Amino acid sequence: MKKVVAKKKFGQNFLKDETVLQKIIEAMPNNDNKIVEIGPGLGDLTKYLVDVKSVEAFEVDTDLCKLLQKKFDKEIATKQLHINCEDVLNAWQSSLIDESYDLVANLPYYIATKIILKALTDPKCKNILVMVQLEVAEKFCAEVGQKVFGSLSIITQSIGNARIIVKVPPTAFDPQPKINSAVFLIEKSSDRSDENFESMLRAAFKQPRKTLMKNLSTTYEKTILQEIFDSLELAQSIRPHQLSTYDYHQLYKKIK
Ligand code: SAM
Repeated sequence: MKKVVAKKKFGQNFLKDETVLQKIIEAMPNNDNKIVEIGPGLGDLTKYLVDVKSVEAFEVDTDLCKLLQKKFDKEIATKQLHINCEDVLNAWQSSLIDESYDLVANLPYYIATKIILKALTDPKCKNILVMVQLEVAEKFCAEVGQKVFGSLSIITQSIGNARIIVKVPPTAFDPQPKINSAVFLIEKSSDRSDENFESMLRAAFKQPRKTLMKNLSTTYEKTILQEIFDSLELAQSIRPHQLSTYDYHQLYKKIK
C-alpha cells in the first residue's frame, strides 16, 4: 500500500505508540454508551475501539475515508462502525448523534478546544476522553490557585470532573508534532451550560494578571461589584485564578 502523506491543514499526526493506545482504551468509562470518534485518521485507535463498542466516526479527509472504508469493511457491514465523511463542525448543529455517547479521540489540535466545548454542552455526550496539546489539557484540568486555572477549568468543573490520564511526547506520533500532548478524561455529571455565566468568565479572565475587580469592572458597574465583593467577603485585590468554581457561581448569582 502507498504511504499516506499527512495533511498539515487537517492536523494529521497519527498516533503510533501502542502503550498510549492501550492507556486510552483502559481509561474508557465502563458503560453502554456508543463511542463517537472524531478524526479516525488511519484507524489506529479505531481498531481498538470497534473491538469493545460500536463507533460513530467523523473524518473530514476524503482520502482517509476511502482508506478506512476498505480497512474496516467487516465492521461497517456489521454496523459496529459507521463513518461520516464530513467536517464534524458542520455535522454538529445541536447534537452529533441521537443517543448517549462518549467522545474518544486523538483530536485535530487546531479545533480541539472548540470540539471539547461543544461536547461539554451537548447533553447526549456523557464523557470526553481525548488527546490534545499538553497546555490545553492542563487548562481543562487545572485546580483553583494554579496559574493556568481559567474559564476552561471553571466551565469543566461546573459540569464534571477532569483529570490527565497520560502525558505523551512527540515521538509517539508520525509525523511528530513540535509540541507535547496529553490524554485527559472529563466525566460529566450534569449538562449545565449557561452562556451568560461563560461571558462573565470571559470578562473575569480578560487580563489574567490584573485583579478580578479590574477585569469585571470593564463589563459591570464598579459600585455594584464592590457591594457584591463585600457581601461575599472577597478581597478587592483577588486575582481571577484565585477564586474557586463555587465562588464564581456565587458571584454570578449576585451579578445576575
Ligand atoms: N485518530 C488518528 C490517530 O490517532 O492516529 C488521527 C488523529 S489526527 C491528530 C486528527 C484527525 O482528525 C485526522 O485524521 C484529520 O483528518 C481529522 N480531522 C481534522 N479536522 C477535522 C474535522 N473538522 N472534522 C473531522 N475530522 C477532522
